[in-house]
Amino acid sequence: MILTGFNEFKIIKDSIPLGVNLLAVSKGHDHESIRKLSNYGQLDFGESRLQEAIPKKNGLSDLKQLRWHFVGTLQKNKVRGVIKEFDFIHSVDSLPLLERISRISKEEQKSPNIFLQVKFKDDPNKGGFLKQDLLKSWSKIISLKNINLIGLMTIPPIVINSYQRKDLFFECRNFANHLGLKDCSMGMSNDWQEAIQGGATWIRLGSLLFGKRQT
Ligand SMILES: *Cc1c(COP(=O)(O)O)cnc(C)c1O
Repeated sequence: MILTGFNEFKIIKDSIPLGVNLLAVSKGHDHESIRKLSNYGQLDFGESRLQEAIPKKNGLSDLKQLRWHFVGTLQKNKVRGVIKEFDFIHSVDSLPLLERISRISKEEQKSPNIFLQVKFKDDPNKGGFLKQDLLKSWSKIISLKNINLIGLMTIPPIVINSYQRKDLFFECRNFANHLGLKDCSMGMSNDWQEAIQGGATWIRLGSLLFGKRQT
């Protein structure tokens, strides 16, 4: 892991304004790296695969205060497992998926915190709602039970520059405000500063905190 100690973590933490939450994306790193960061006071951790997250969570079962965030592509057959294991889902990218989460959350008596992933620019590599489709489905979306809809999540296409990124993050912030949603999950190790300027309330940092991924 890249952080050699608490002071390095503190430098990153201190450069994040109040009101912006830090999600430590721990995919590709072992549970001891998570434990170390949790000893520095980090409580929110993100994983992108259920089968990778479960053994890590088992190795950390004494740390009851940790909050788990699912950030990866969510396959239909993983919905129940993800609902059981995670407190937040950042990557809900379609209405059928959201409906499935609602139905299974009801069965499991859960109400996960949900971000809807939105695609503001065409990107064949990424899923997500288009703005107009989200608006069209909005009344249906807000009628769903056992869903705690808290915000939007977005990932800009890799090809766009820093200025275009900031614009895209602003667009996400404005769209969330328009829908009455408080949170915007946006910004990763390469663009978290632009995301904060654009109005992020959650930034998702992996390699900046943990170094290069092992897997
Ligand atoms: C891996 C991942 C991150 C963290 O990426 P870094 O570039 O390592 O900071 C953030 N969000 C999602 C959705 C990811 O899959």
